[in-house]
Amino acid sequence: MISFNPDALYDGRGWRATAGDALTIRWRRPNHAAMNGPSHMHRALEEAEKAAERDEVPVGAVLVDGTTGKVIAAAGNRTENDNDPTAHAEMLVIRAAAERRRSPRLDGCDLYVTLEPCPMCASAISLARVRRLYFGAYDPKGGGVEHGARVFEQASCHHRPEVYGGIDETQSAELLKRFFRERR
Ligand code: ZN
Repeated sequence: MISFNPDALYDGRGWRATAGDALTIRWRRPNHAAMNGPSHMHRALEEAEKAAERDEVPVGAVLVDGTTGKVIAAAGNRTENDNDPTAHAEMLVIRAAAERRRSPRLDGCDLYVTLEPCPMCASAISLARVRRLYFGAYDPKGGGVEHGARVFEQASCHHRPEVYGGIDETQSAELLKRFFRERR
C-alpha cells in the first residue's frame, strides 16, 4: 500500500510517495506555470536577464490577470538604476499593476517572480491581495516566504496567497549564480 502525504514528502523537486523500501514513486509537481499561459515564468526570466544587463541583481517579475492570463506588468530589479532600495521586481510590478487597475488591491492576480520574495515584497504581495505567488529559486539567505520571517505564516498577515515555489528553479538560480560569479 502506498501512503501519500504531500506535506511530509515534498522534497523540493517533486512529490515522493514511498511504499516500504521497495518502491519510490515521484510525481511531478503540478505545473501551474504551464497551465496559466505559455510561460509567464519565462517572461519573468527574460526580465531577470535584462536586469543583469543593467548590472542589477537578476530578478524578474510578472503580474498576470488570473482570469484572462494577460500580463499586466513586467519588471526586473532597478534598485541600482533608480537609487531606490525598494525597487525590487515584485514591488515594481505591484505598483504598476495597481496604478493600471486604479486600485490598491490586485484580487485575482497572480505574481511570477524568479526568486523567493524578501520580507518586504512578501508583505507587499499580501497587502495587494495577490491570489497566487509562483517563484523560481528558493532563497535561504534573503527569502521571507519559506525562510526567515515567513511573512505569510505570521498572525499579522491578513491575506495569504497560494504559494508555488521552485518553478523553473534551475534557470533562475543559474542566472543569479552566473551574475555573482562574474562580479567576484
Ligand atoms: Zn524584495
